[in-house]
Amino acid sequence: MSDRLYLDHNATSPLRPEVRDVMVEALAAPRNASSVHAEGRAAKALVEGARKTIAARINAPVESVVFTAGGTEADTLALTGLVRGGPNVRCLMVSAIEHSAVTATAEALHRDVDRVETVPVTEAGVLDLAALEERLASYDQAEDGPFLLSVMLANNETGVIQPIADIAPMVWKAGGYLFVDAVQGFGKIDIDFSALGADAMALSAHKAGGPPGVGALVVKPGLSFAPLLRGGGQELSRRAGTENVAGIAGFGALAEVAEPSAYEELSGLRDAIEAALPDSVRIWGKDAKRLPNTSCFSARGFQSETQVMVMDLAGFAVSSGSACSSGKVKPSPVLKAMGASEIETKSSLRVSLGWDSPSDTAERFIAAWSRDYQRVLERSAA
Ligand code: PLP
Repeated sequence: MSDRLYLDHNATSPLRPEVRDVMVEALAAPRNASSVHAEGRAAKALVEGARKTIAARINAPVESVVFTAGGTEADTLALTGLVRGGPNVRCLMVSAIEHSAVTATAEALHRDVDRVETVPVTEAGVLDLAALEERLASYDQAEDGPFLLSVMLANNETGVIQPIADIAPMVWKAGGYLFVDAVQGFGKIDIDFSALGADAMALSAHKAGGPPGVGALVVKPGLSFAPLLRGGGQELSRRAGTENVAGIAGFGALAEVAEPSAYEELSGLRDAIEAALPDSVRIWGKDAKRLPNTSCFSARGFQSETQVMVMDLAGFAVSSGSACSSGKVKPSPVLKAMGASEIETKSSLRVSLGWDSPSDTAERFIAAWSRDYQRVLERSAA
């Protein structure tokens, strides 16, 4: 496996050695952070240390960080918690490019709210601010009740970064709440929770070299929400259940070691890949601000499944977009929302680099991909 090239960091990133060391040590003792004995107090110290580091990393108040079992839970907790508790949101507005953790939850909540609406994106994959402005101008807060807008920070498929700091004042002016799924951004780009102005934000540890199955919901102080899990009163009764101490400690270690400046350098490799693609290939979100590690493109005639398979055989782990548990490739709603044709959605490939990507990534990827693409073209011409 050693000469394989893993280029699927947006699905999950390999565990960084520094993070693994911290986790192994945390796993070496009994760790229930609610126990009053010395072992319990040591566990509590690990959890609270991680909370402090993560809060500092995103410039958020320490008490705003609520640990969850990953990004999906944080997304679900934000939407469900703000609809069923706290402000009792009546209208859910969801961007057209949200992760399925958000869209499926919004859909499941349709009986709890008056409306679930979709806010479109531009061809570049950026939230359509003019469309949002128009919608908010006609929103009657007194009549329609509180609304929640859900916009991700960075898209998992295209890497396109959303202008959250511009969106937040529009939402406040209209009296609404803003939730930001920042799962793909954490560790890869600088995130300033306070400056962005979101009311709540979801994080996950495993997209930049932390462990899967641990994440956080960050909530503005004073904003209450209904918990999904009740019981032992952990996380100030906002998320019950014995903490995943080793996972949380690993998340904290990631917050210490992940350097967005190192990711910035990956844009050189990403750009080299894109520059070597044939002109006929459409690169999604190319002109927008993007995560430095992500490239998503469509090569007409080269089916997504085929690309993933032949590249896998050639020693490259890449993906057709968002991984889904069935392993089946569905046409991407994200690319559709950006105006992709059916042929384009069926021929997309996502390459996502990460902390362990070697400096010859672009040459190796392009050599293998171009060879396979050429073969497909020749076969279809024959
Ligand atoms: N949100 C986004 C944007 C994601 O990319 C993902 C994972 O792919 C999730 C949420 C779900 O996070 P997790 O895998 O931690 O449950």
